[in-house]
Amino acid sequence: MKEKTILTGIRPTGNIHLGHYFGAVQTWKKLQENGLPFYLEIADVQALTDNFNQPEKVNKNVRELAIDALSCGIDPEKTTIFIQSMVPEIAELTVFYSNLVTISRLYRNPTVKAEMKQKRELFGENGESITYGFLGYPVSQAADITAFRGSLIPVGEDQLPLLEQCREIVRKFNHIYGEVLVEPEAMLSDTPRIKGLDGNEKMGKSLGNAIFLSDSEELIAKKIMGALTDTKKIKKDDQANPDVCMVFYYHKLVNLNHLETVCSECKNGLRGCVACKKELIEQMNTFLKPIREKRNYYLEHPEAIDQVLQEGTKKARAVAISVAQEIKEHMKIRYFE
Ligand code: ATP
Ligand code: MG
Repeated sequence: MKEKTILTGIRPTGNIHLGHYFGAVQTWKKLQENGLPFYLEIADVQALTDNFNQPEKVNKNVRELAIDALSCGIDPEKTTIFIQSMVPEIAELTVFYSNLVTISRLYRNPTVKAEMKQKRELFGENGESITYGFLGYPVSQAADITAFRGSLIPVGEDQLPLLEQCREIVRKFNHIYGEVLVEPEAMLSDTPRIKGLDGNEKMGKSLGNAIFLSDSEELIAKKIMGALTDTKKIKKDDQANPDVCMVFYYHKLVNLNHLETVCSECKNGLRGCVACKKELIEQMNTFLKPIREKRNYYLEHPEAIDQVLQEGTKKARAVAISVAQEIKEHMKIRYFE
């Protein structure tokens, strides 16, 4: 069997939160241990598709994300961390692939459709403001993957249609120009979406319901104190339902050793919400402490971050250059050395 290459990405639109950590980063940490080539793309070009008017935000978050990723235990010796915009071959491939997908197919892509709907709900727009770049981001993802011969792609269920789009582009390319590209496979995450402090189905960067790994102890305390609990519980000794309580939900992430007690005390009216929140704050801060310490180290050593990003990007680019050359040969657009 040919060696697999794993590729995944994250958009520099904000810091890493618990949703990313338990939904994605934990899997990446396991994957980087299996010895296969593993690329982690900081997708700044993709972040610009819907943040094009906020270049400072995207710029700042590239380094912030690198700091977060390293602080969580992503190891640059095992994982190639690179910046998308600094590998221009990806943009080049995006242009080539844009001929291989129809506009109506992009509009029909369920992931794109859901995101367009969300944008309309948020901004009350009628779709007129959907840009060519936004509509085409699945094409650029196909370029991200194929530029490194990515063959195993860790995804959440909601992202499967993006991978399917990439596979279609690969098949069409290979049919027209010859068998060059690798058809990637999805590696479906078994972690469900992590919910937000407000009970929302998704903890999201922009939803105001996230606990970020970069939050201070004080901020964590404030956020957890405001988290949604069982609204039927009024008095301290009322019996409650932990299944509808976000505080219990996060106990399940960071307080595994004490879970049964928390659950049974809650159900039997033996623990008040304030005490329960205080315990969670303590456990959350214990969980975040080593990450916070590493973050502080990297914040004081920006040169270490720059080095990781530069070396990772250099390594990634060398691969993309050679893949792009082969692609151009097959497309008969390589005229001289
Ligand atoms: P944006 O709003 O900018 O798209 P995002 O929070 O969706 O930000 P991405 O950079 O798009 O973050 O996604 C990075 C990875 O984290 C993806 O694999 C995504 O599925 C995963 N992820 C994001 N939020 C959650 C969550 N709440 N639970 C589980 N996984 C998540
Ligand atoms: Mg997203």
